[in-house]
Amino acid sequence: MIDYHVHLWRHKPNLSLQASVDQMAEYCEHAAGLGVTELAITEHTSRFVQFDALLRGWWETDPSPELQAATLKYWDEELGADLDQYVETALAARAAGLPVVVGMEVDYFPGQMEKTARLLQGYPFDVLLGSVHWIGAWLINAPDWGPIAEREWASRGVERVWDDYTRSVEELAATATVDVLAHPDLVKISGHRPDVPDEFHDRIAEAARASGLAAELNSAGLRRPGALEAYPGPPLLRKFRDLGVPITTASDGHDVDYVSWRIGDLTAMAKAAGYTEVTTFRGRRPQPQPL
Ligand SMILES: [Zn+2]
Ligand SMILES: [Zn+2]
Repeated sequence: MIDYHVHLWRHKPNLSLQASVDQMAEYCEHAAGLGVTELAITEHTSRFVQFDALLRGWWETDPSPELQAATLKYWDEELGADLDQYVETALAARAAGLPVVVGMEVDYFPGQMEKTARLLQGYPFDVLLGSVHWIGAWLINAPDWGPIAEREWASRGVERVWDDYTRSVEELAATATVDVLAHPDLVKISGHRPDVPDEFHDRIAEAARASGLAAELNSAGLRRPGALEAYPGPPLLRKFRDLGVPITTASDGHDVDYVSWRIGDLTAMAKAAGYTEVTTFRGRRPQPQPL
């Protein structure tokens, strides 16, 4: 089994953002105890000073000063890692024999993906995940934006939020910047769902198929009281399967306790949806493995 989405650092202000081989070794040991044989280290692009230098201020196109201010605060609290130190440490971990591949979780920001791709191309990544976390300057999965989130859901309406999210997924896929669509239906995180989600599921699955992306089956949704199921749930997973979209399995753990969390359950879900393989990556090339 594989866990193709783990983070080194929690979402807390003022952490020391140093990668270490020791931490990766601890992750690998924990994962091995759960039957996982390969981990992709996939920290957020927004953690790194190199991406900050490139992207800072992207949120200023949002018409809401409050959302802009909230994102600015979050952005600055999360920032401070060095991309070279991160990549070199992951390479050192692999050279030491740990079963890790070098990855990144890449945020989608409209109009910013060309320069993002140019920066990424300077590093020997094995796999790039692509994520829609923001709609404009609204961070839809922010843990402590409760009042903001409820107001945005109420004022925009469920259909429009899902439509905006889905359009961002389509745009991200079309940029060909990444290899895997991370947590493909993250927009369900707060429990707001359209009466008939099929149209949105069809568009998300078709976006992955048309761009040759893999989709991720991510257990983080099972830890979120509003989501109550993996990202994606069974109906969207079956659509990916019907369109021949490859999958990875992923815990999205941000500390060792959640590394490879419920990967066995995800593997069973994938089999139940008709999958017989998961996809690993080397040098951004997919390499299927039997499930
Ligand atoms: Zn994410
Ligand atoms: Zn993540």
